[in-house]
Amino acid sequence: MPVSPRIALFGGSFDPVHKGHLEVARRACAHFGLDRVIFMPAATPPHKLGKALAPGGARLAMLRCATAGDARWEVSDAELRRAGTSFTVDTLRDMARQESAGGGAELFMILGSDNLPGLPGWREAEEVLSIAQPIVAWREGTPDGHLAALEGRLPAHLVERLSLGFMRLPPFPGSATELRGKIAAGRLSGAELPEGVLEVIQREGLYGAISTEARP
Ligand code: ATP
Repeated sequence: MPVSPRIALFGGSFDPVHKGHLEVARRACAHFGLDRVIFMPAATPPHKLGKALAPGGARLAMLRCATAGDARWEVSDAELRRAGTSFTVDTLRDMARQESAGGGAELFMILGSDNLPGLPGWREAEEVLSIAQPIVAWREGTPDGHLAALEGRLPAHLVERLSLGFMRLPPFPGSATELRGKIAAGRLSGAELPEGVLEVIQREGLYGAISTEARP
């Protein structure tokens, strides 16, 4: 009997994509034997309504550079094309439909542990956790006991599913917020970002960087 491919959705703002994201994807591939990771920048993340993000095209361009080194990684513009608020349940339903038409796949969803407290409030959270096996990367600064705190807020079998997907590894530090601050202050070296990402930031003049296009 053929084995179904293991495909993970990795959604987020990716504003910009950073080494923390890539490390999480690398570890997820190693721990869960993933065949594909689909990095998908959100059009408008539900928890960041009203916050300006870099244009979708620029976030896609940064992701394409950052993921070029691993054949299992790909970038999708599905949420940007759908526009509006990017609800994970809609994305996963689309993926499940597509994959079942193509012969079936085992679906996963990668997220950082900072998302756990808000997870029960996600649109159709139970459906999200049922369609895709979550892979939770422990994020530095997240307090212990966050999984236990979900007991009673989600059905026990879904808390168990989250616990099965928890990567009990040393956390990998870093956030996009911190990087945007450094870029605006002109304190960021290209080595702190994945390959090619600083060039896109400079070309597009993102996050307060002086656009190389605007230079004489
Ligand atoms: P910001 O600082 O702008 O909120 P971010 O990097 O925290 O940016 P996203 O780009 O939305 O946020 O991250 C996408 C996903 O990757 C989220 O699920 C987030 O929790 C996870 N993630 C990001 N950085 C890390 C990290 N260093 N360790 C574990 N998970 C991470």
